[in-house]
Amino acid sequence: MKSKPAKLHQSKNIALVAHDNKKNELSQWVESHKKELGAHRLFATGTTGYKLEKETGLPVVKYVSGPLGGDQQIGAKISEGDIDVLIFFWDPFEPMPHDPDVKALLRIAAVWNIPVACNPSSADFIISSPLIGQPYERQVPDYDAYIQERTS
Ligand code: PGA
Repeated sequence: MKSKPAKLHQSKNIALVAHDNKKNELSQWVESHKKELGAHRLFATGTTGYKLEKETGLPVVKYVSGPLGGDQQIGAKISEGDIDVLIFFWDPFEPMPHDPDVKALLRIAAVWNIPVACNPSSADFIISSPLIGQPYERQVPDYDAYIQERTS
């Protein structure tokens, strides 16, 4: 597939999702990076978002709860270019009723070449990268070329 450059602004749109057994870990991580995260816009699945707002005081745009479609809403926003970074603390020890959605979200993040952290240490690496606070050019699928190829 052909790719093309896409611009990320200095301030990023960061999606935050945590499975139930990982919600405290994410909340602690957000609390300990509150200052850095305050420079960005935060998005989350329903329960994660309410918990983060309540516990950290940071404003969070909330989608519906993950098992009700929130993971898919975030995936849709990634494919529209509206989410720049995904912090997704999924639970490696519990099967989920919405496992297909979890897989789909991770897949779409790979397709659109966005940084993904699935645990606190990878999230630390992302948030402490100089790139988080700078404009950045990433390669994304060239959709116009893709359609052209498939329809000509
Ligand atoms: P939740 O969804 O934030 O509504 O719990 C997260 C998930 O399970 O994907």
